[in-house]
Amino acid sequence: MSERLSELAGKAALITGGGSGIGAACARELAARGAKVTVADVDEAAAKEVAEEIRGLAWAVDLLDVRALEDLRLDVDILVNNAGVQSINPIEDFEPEKFRTLLALMVEAPFLLVRAVLPHMYEAGFGRIVNISSVHGLRASEYKVAYVTAKHGLEGLSKVTALEGGPRGVTSNCVNPGYVRTPLVTRQIADQARTHGIDEQEVLSKILLTESAIKRLVEPEEVAALVGWLASPAAGMVTGASYTMDGGWSAR
Ligand code: NAD
Repeated sequence: MSERLSELAGKAALITGGGSGIGAACARELAARGAKVTVADVDEAAAKEVAEEIRGLAWAVDLLDVRALEDLRLDVDILVNNAGVQSINPIEDFEPEKFRTLLALMVEAPFLLVRAVLPHMYEAGFGRIVNISSVHGLRASEYKVAYVTAKHGLEGLSKVTALEGGPRGVTSNCVNPGYVRTPLVTRQIADQARTHGIDEQEVLSKILLTESAIKRLVEPEEVAALVGWLASPAAGMVTGASYTMDGGWSAR
């Protein structure tokens, strides 16, 4: 086995939202680096399909059922908090229940999962937590109040985890992509077209990529490569960081 193929051998990884998009790409990347990967997703069929492909395990779970996560203890060495959804509306029309849902999925569930894995990580003296944030964890956009609020919250969770976990061998970092070619973005392009009354091609050129110096979508595999590196031994001194992959958006 090459060094890279075996560097995560013996490590158990858990990826939320691993049935699609960035999560599925992360599942493939960590499996390729030797980890035993559990694909957690509310979409059971998708979780099983990815798990089968990488000889991992599937966990059908609705992470919105946050109470069920409160007493969990998980023997996981690498946690990737990835599951997320988007919802677009001006604040005055934004449904309060929708706001709560996004916060529950993208802040509360990650907190409860971090809480569930830390005892094992502390006992092992090793752990890697990677939170899939967004450029919207660092910058705002109109009409995305719950998403931007949730991702900024996730940044805080990640940094506190880094401070508490550092002395005990656990790192915690955020990855902050710009727009990635996944179903979440395809759905968003359609939503934005409706909200702004323009066609989908214009959404890409005039709205999504206006701030990006590189005028293309990020590929899920590019995000996964960064997550794989953050999970690797080479990134042992990287913690409390937020790594942008946004084609230069946040350089402005
Ligand atoms: P996606 O829609 O392709 O995949 C999300 C996955 O999460 C799906 O498999 C879905 O079933 C799962 N999921 C949704 N709700 C769930 C729940 N309640 N319980 C368990 N699983 C649930 O999305 P993606 O684009 O791959 O996004 C993944 C992450 O990356 C999200 O946190 C998103 O905010 C972030 N992100 C995406 C982009 C982008 O442009 N696509 C950019 C920056 C950050």
